[in-house]
Amino acid sequence: MGHYVGPKCRLCRRIGEKLFLKGEKCNTNCALDGKTHQKPPGQHGGLRQRKPSVYKIRLLEKQKLRHITGISERQFRRFFAKAEKMKGITGENLLCLLELRLDNVLYRLGFGSSRAQARQFILHGHIKVNERKVNIPSYLLRPGDRIELRPKLQDNIFIQHALEESAKRTLPSWLSYEPEKFTAKILKFPEREEVSYPINEQLIVELYSR
Ligand code: SF4
Repeated sequence: MGHYVGPKCRLCRRIGEKLFLKGEKCNTNCALDGKTHQKPPGQHGGLRQRKPSVYKIRLLEKQKLRHITGISERQFRRFFAKAEKMKGITGENLLCLLELRLDNVLYRLGFGSSRAQARQFILHGHIKVNERKVNIPSYLLRPGDRIELRPKLQDNIFIQHALEESAKRTLPSWLSYEPEKFTAKILKFPEREEVSYPINEQLIVELYSR
């Protein structure tokens, strides 16, 4: 399955919780705010739901992570296979690898109010890694890599707004940022406790181990 291009709020309703897919709008104008029993989307969304099976719980956890990161099923499986081959705990490896995707790192830096917006900037060729233009949102960064915003975009109103918002958040300890140069550096491979996805990764491992 390719990338989902439909309404983002529908994905949150499907999962049953806020996934913050639309940047700042999610804090100010979200249909899920204040509703404890949000109906799933669709004609039959209002029908009484049965207790979910173990399989469904695991599947929803995987879908949740996939929607948050905005990646396709095929890409997700690729990342999972890579995580399995690494030393350590597969679920933790998976989250740490996803954290190092270029679009996610830009979002963490504030070069985009959402991962979707960060992806647009990458696709339009505004990002350099180690002084070379990279237009692949799934590009996997490594410790030591330098990320730079091209000068053309540094005064962009969306970037300025996103940077103002991100200044309220704490930058992860595996990432450094020089605001006057619009440049960042990956300091080390992230640890699980430094990765803030609201995910129980063990459920995803169990899903793929069946
Ligand atoms: Fe829509 Fe954002 Fe609310 Fe999700 S969190 S339902 S994307 S406004």
